[in-house]
Amino acid sequence: MLRSLLYVSTCFLAGAAMAQYADVRVGLFHDSPTRQVMVMGDRGPLDVWVDGKQAAQLASSDGLVIKCTENGIHAKSLAFDLTAKKSLIFRSPAGMGFRLRNMAPKSPERLYPGSLELGRSGGNLLLVATVPLEEYVGGVVQAEAGKEQWMEYYKLQAVSCRTYALANKRRHAGEGFEVCDGTHCQVFLGRNRVDSIRQAVALTRDLVVVDPDIRLIHATFHSNCGGETMNADEVWSKSEPYLVSTVDTFCLHEPHAVWEKSVSRTKWLNYLHKEYGVDTDDSNVVASVTNYSPECRDLFLANISPPVPLVQLRKDFKLRSAYFSIKPEGDMVVLHGRGFGHGVGLCQEGAMHMARHGYTYTQILHHYFANVHLVKLQNLDFFRDKGD
Ligand SMILES: [Zn+2]
Ligand SMILES: [Zn+2]
Repeated sequence: MLRSLLYVSTCFLAGAAMAQYADVRVGLFHDSPTRQVMVMGDRGPLDVWVDGKQAAQLASSDGLVIKCTENGIHAKSLAFDLTAKKSLIFRSPAGMGFRLRNMAPKSPERLYPGSLELGRSGGNLLLVATVPLEEYVGGVVQAEAGKEQWMEYYKLQAVSCRTYALANKRRHAGEGFEVCDGTHCQVFLGRNRVDSIRQAVALTRDLVVVDPDIRLIHATFHSNCGGETMNADEVWSKSEPYLVSTVDTFCLHEPHAVWEKSVSRTKWLNYLHKEYGVDTDDSNVVASVTNYSPECRDLFLANISPPVPLVQLRKDFKLRSAYFSIKPEGDMVVLHGRGFGHGVGLCQEGAMHMARHGYTYTQILHHYFANVHLVKLQNLDFFRDKGD
């Protein structure tokens, strides 16, 4: 069914769908709530709207210092002194965006595309940027992937970030925006300034990743899988058709491929006995839980009874991964681990290795996510309607 649908011309464009996907409303300074900011135009003036009415134009050389007061929002610059009861909106008539500096607490100036709306939330300012989707994607890729990556890795990040933004439009619905700018959603520190990222975003324009039911995927990732990724239901007790275990040799020699941690033998055995009722008086059981080498990823420690989930051991002993072997060493046990992170979905170091060795971003995507498809977001509704 899907295959036949994918042959349909991608020129189909639903007007309503386009409007729905055009902009992203991002809550700014989510991780450090602010009481005072300075707003300036980015290479041009800004139109200023006070409580829904156009009130002034801020020259590009002028900066407005804005803070919460008891009964509203106060904005002051060289040329203006404005008070809003509910909201201030800034729009660049030339579509150039704005510059923003957090003054309490202080942070460096950032350049943002789109427009800015300020309101109040408790005693703090509520800042919401309305940013064109593709510019948002560029900013997130720069913040999340850094400056020195391969083009195919940037393209992979671009389709993942775009998919995330559209799949999570209701994540902050009660707060007046769609996604926040912190690690809770995707880090967004303003306009992208890296040419190769701009190119990667343009080359993947409008493309998103969907599962066989045309649902936007949750493109979850981790640092290094250690050689084998995990099924989603083994970590989060919810399965997804695209988050299934796969063997991965691309990350085996990358920076977070292995780790080691020593734990006192007494602490280890006491924990297993206390938390899981493991019989630590039985020498065979003790041998199994202190000398253990799985050939591939296990779900439970040494397959003893009662079962001890490795995912829980990872949490309780703050281990880098749930994929490790154990060797006794005097009064210690030494855990020799592989990988870093939960192991579900995309292995970042494996993906970077693949990009460096000439794989395309679609090959990388299909290596880590099973049964997924890339579609133009304008066609999502079309495929969904046909699938009903
Ligand atoms: Zn968030
Ligand atoms: Zn891997």
